Amino acid sequence: MTRVAFLGLGAIGAPIASHLAPPSFDLVVWNRTRERAKGFVANHGGHIADSPRSAGKNAEFAITCLPSSREVDQVLFGDDGLAASLASGAILIDCTSGDPGASRRIATRLAEQGIDFLDAPVSGGVTGAIAGALTVMCGGDEAVFDRCRPVLEAFGKKIVRCGGVGAGHAVKAVSNALLAVHIWSLGEALTALAKLDVNTAVALDVISASAGRSNASQNLFPERVMTRAFPRTFRLALLDKDIGIAATLAEEAGVSVPVIELTARLIRDAHAELGEEADHVEAVKVIEQRAGVRVS
Ligand code: NDP
Repeated sequence: MTRVAFLGLGAIGAPIASHLAPPSFDLVVWNRTRERAKGFVANHGGHIADSPRSAGKNAEFAITCLPSSREVDQVLFGDDGLAASLASGAILIDCTSGDPGASRRIATRLAEQGIDFLDAPVSGGVTGAIAGALTVMCGGDEAVFDRCRPVLEAFGKKIVRCGGVGAGHAVKAVSNALLAVHIWSLGEALTALAKLDVNTAVALDVISASAGRSNASQNLFPERVMTRAFPRTFRLALLDKDIGIAATLAEEAGVSVPVIELTARLIRDAHAELGEEADHVEAVKVIEQRAGVRVS
């Protein structure tokens, strides 16, 4: 059986790792908070590693799913780091929504040890992860991507190589910048309609069948905002990070992106106001508060 090490059993990491459990793979997991790893192994099987370093022993593939590239760097090259035990020929698959520049630096450092790198951030949320139906956008050499396919197919449905190292992270950052723009602009639009005494449930239904529709109008708002359920599946802090990466990438490319920059600022302020644990859709609450009206 192929040995896979999985590091980072958070909201999306745990359901991804569940598809790599025995008997499909020989899975070893590591999580900073050990209790989470214990709960995971009790439910899905596999072994627990005491440190990133011990997780990497004999692993053909190591997968990281951490908040940002900063934590990936720490887990790889910090004390008892994963890179110290990965053998030449192993592949690091980074499912974190990371930073392309940081990933290129990490890939260069790993290459000195004969370890390959594939950035493989995902989209589809916790529901998509549980269903094993994520979109996986990859960056790396084609031969490395091909070798990773059997692992990625365990949790992904649409699996695409977008280019060299960092390309997957770039596409993911831009996709989530669009997600932020869609949530924020729909929140503003429905707030305005609420102020005009329009029935917002009817408006949302019409918009979702019209040119202004998006995943936000068709799924997120009906399921989370109109119901006031606001489940916590993807932290606003992480969306703030993603749109920040997109804005920085555009700046580095010398492209003016005023809508993305403005939305990044609004999301950053909402993150500061709502805190680290708020879900990304809860940003709508900030719009509602400012307008003094609820969209539902
Ligand atoms: P969570 O905040 O739920 O989990 C973060 C994970 O990283 C936990 O396992 C946490 O460990 C670990 N961690 C945090 N800081 C450190 C550190 N300094 N050293 C070691 N481990 C650390 O995040 P998600 O699972 O939601 O997201 C993970 C990645 O996937 C992010 O890049 C996110 O943007 C991306 N993503 C998330 C989606 C979602 O729907 N949630 C969808 C698509 C992408 P501990 O248990 O100890 O806190």
